[in-house]
Amino acid sequence: MTAEGKELAGQVALVTGGSRGIGRAVAEALAAAGARVAVVARDRERALAAAAVLPGTGHGGFACDVADAAAVDALLQAVEAELGPVDVLVNNAGVTQDNLLVRISDEAWDRVLDTNLKGAFNLIRAAAKGMMRRRQGRIINITSVVGLVGNKGQANYAASKAGLIGLTKAVAKELASRNVLCNAVAPGYIETEMTAALGDAAREALIGQIALGRLGQPQDVAGVVRFLAGPAASYITGQTIVVDGGMVM
Ligand code: NDP
Repeated sequence: MTAEGKELAGQVALVTGGSRGIGRAVAEALAAAGARVAVVARDRERALAAAAVLPGTGHGGFACDVADAAAVDALLQAVEAELGPVDVLVNNAGVTQDNLLVRISDEAWDRVLDTNLKGAFNLIRAAAKGMMRRRQGRIINITSVVGLVGNKGQANYAASKAGLIGLTKAVAKELASRNVLCNAVAPGYIETEMTAALGDAAREALIGQIALGRLGQPQDVAGVVRFLAGPAASYITGQTIVVDGGMVM
């Protein structure tokens, strides 16, 4: 299969948390659109394995903890040396460490904020310089409906995801003059390892709140990311697109 004629042919996309779940589906969608994809996760073997089965050629797997700014700078250098300059950055890596507000430890707060929010900042800062110089770039941050409406037991996660929405808008305004566009995608409840622990009763209750009457699949999110990375979205920046089957409106 050749990338020729596809909307992201010749482009390089970097997807954090691309080894499983939503990030993996995003990596597949961007590869199907013709991009060469850098799959990033802390577990090197899983990143390499995910990259190896993507459609097309020229992909790579990379190990990096997005919370570590020095490691992220080194990652960008490695990706650019191996695949070329990054045109599309998808900040998808994220973790939860849920607890009631008064029981959230300093460590749990820092871990979630450092990965979900500072991690995205680390990647944007590292990738933006090249994008600005080349006058081309798309940055897509995976936030959550929880960042819009809050959630009991997720103060740290909700704060990180709301922070991502503010970061998205600031970056969109600051980089627009250089043709670097920045948007966010806010999934609702998507079936992945992150959400696998839910029991049957909780699952049914959730489905009752979703207008489309089903939980989301990673591909439901990936299609929107592919759209935001491509030419059809060239007049969209600073937006948060909710992908939740009509749960929050
Ligand atoms: P998963 O837990 O299935 O996958 C998380 C991915 O992120 C893995 O590839 C993991 O690999 C990677 N990752 C985690 N921490 C780090 C880190 N510090 N540095 C680099 N990579 C990391 O998550 P989902 O696919 O469910 O979620 C993906 C994103 O979507 C997250 O940001 C999540 O908050 C968001 N989201 C998910 C929803 C859902 O219902 N599933 C709903 C709304 C938003 P490794 O462990 O090897 O590092």
